[in-house]
Amino acid sequence: MRPMKYSLLQLGCQMNQSDGERLRTVIESLGYEPTENEEEANLLGIVACSVRQKAIDKVYSKIHKWNTAKGERNLLTFVTGCILPADKVKFLKLFDLVFHMNELPDFPDLVRQYGVVTPVGLDQGGVGRPIDDVKQSVGPSGRGVVGEESRKDRLKGYWLIPPTYTSGFEAFVPIQNGCDKFCTFCAVPYTRGREVSRPSRDILREVETLVEEGYKSITLLGQNVNSYGLDKNGEEIGFAELLRRIGEMGNASGREFWVYFTSPHPKDMSIEVLETIAEYPCLARQIHLPIQSGDDKVLIRMNRNYRVGEYRQIVGNIRRLLPEATLFTDIIVGFTGESEEQFENTRSIMRELQYNMAYIAIYSPRPGAASSRWDDDVSHEEKKRRLHELQGELQAISHEHNMAMIGKSYRVLVTGRDRLSGYLSGRTEGKVIVRFPSTDERLIGEFVEVVITEAAEMAVAGELGGVRVAADREAVYS
Ligand code: SF4
Repeated sequence: MRPMKYSLLQLGCQMNQSDGERLRTVIESLGYEPTENEEEANLLGIVACSVRQKAIDKVYSKIHKWNTAKGERNLLTFVTGCILPADKVKFLKLFDLVFHMNELPDFPDLVRQYGVVTPVGLDQGGVGRPIDDVKQSVGPSGRGVVGEESRKDRLKGYWLIPPTYTSGFEAFVPIQNGCDKFCTFCAVPYTRGREVSRPSRDILREVETLVEEGYKSITLLGQNVNSYGLDKNGEEIGFAELLRRIGEMGNASGREFWVYFTSPHPKDMSIEVLETIAEYPCLARQIHLPIQSGDDKVLIRMNRNYRVGEYRQIVGNIRRLLPEATLFTDIIVGFTGESEEQFENTRSIMRELQYNMAYIAIYSPRPGAASSRWDDDVSHEEKKRRLHELQGELQAISHEHNMAMIGKSYRVLVTGRDRLSGYLSGRTEGKVIVRFPSTDERLIGEFVEVVITEAAEMAVAGELGGVRVAADREAVYS
């Protein structure tokens, strides 16, 4: 019999990517096999992002195509992920199943309730019904909608699902879900709800397993990672202690790996967190600290709960305690009401703080976010100009950082083939992209030493030095 297959479209941020890895585990436990080819799939799903209009447009274009294909074959469709209440109402009319990610443990029941016999069900002698017949008997009100139960309890079940990691050497580990900060430009608190911290014992167990399996890059994920534990009223450890326990585990393991976290909020970036990173070699010297704007009035309108002076102090602490750390940030240009002078303040803080990398976005009102009710009064042309100016600043600063790497040797995690033929690429602990000549794909997922010989604006190039390979792998170079 032809195997039943599924295809999953994952949109949005790293949290959605991580959610998708748990979703795959559940779908595959039902006997479905993955396929990239939608045409041969019986189960088609989307991990959606309601935060950006472009991502929403993609959801609509996909579901219209899939619903047309239902005339030709049995097909079950679902959508989950970051979904605003207003979008959910529309999706319910288009998809067979719509569920919140914390309802993932119920997915097999939802599919069965829908009347679909899964590959596992077939093996057990079940008889399938065509989806469209099932729809008629279930009716529109029964379309896979799950009632609102205790979100916190449900999240516990969700976190217990082992992920199907999409890489054999880098992994994302969710440590928290939701957000309490309510930045006025952001819809996340409305799509994912309030902050809930995952039990630390489960996080530590997952990290330990990854380390034992030889993973080299582990990223702790959350909307506000450094407020980890604050929702538990003293019943859970805080973020600095979580890092310390991971650091101890790293020391005891004798293995080499890098642990990152994203994204922290400046308001909760304590000195203890920085001191802990300084103490343990496995905690990567790379800090992503979103500033969003270099102007206090804009920060107030964004409801960012810190001022430029406080942010500057945190960066001072990073430079003092972690002098080798690279510094990344997020910036929004053209936020509602942003004057030329306020934009110039952002430009000047960029120059002052000398970021290695900045993810600069043009402001666009996000449905559901508070600022979507305010005038989007900076013209698109002006926003584009501000974006290009900041990108120019960033390139110049990053080039200087990269030039300073020339002649030095860096540990590099090889991540894949470079787009330049005959080269591999990877990244340093500080996430600087490195390209070097080699076609030896056995190096992908390994640490190598690269001596930097050239620097471009956003990357460097070098020559391979020595390679250290794990004991259970064939030695490649000495
Ligand atoms: S901290 Fe702000 S930007 Fe980040 S998820 Fe929460 S509301 Fe959104």
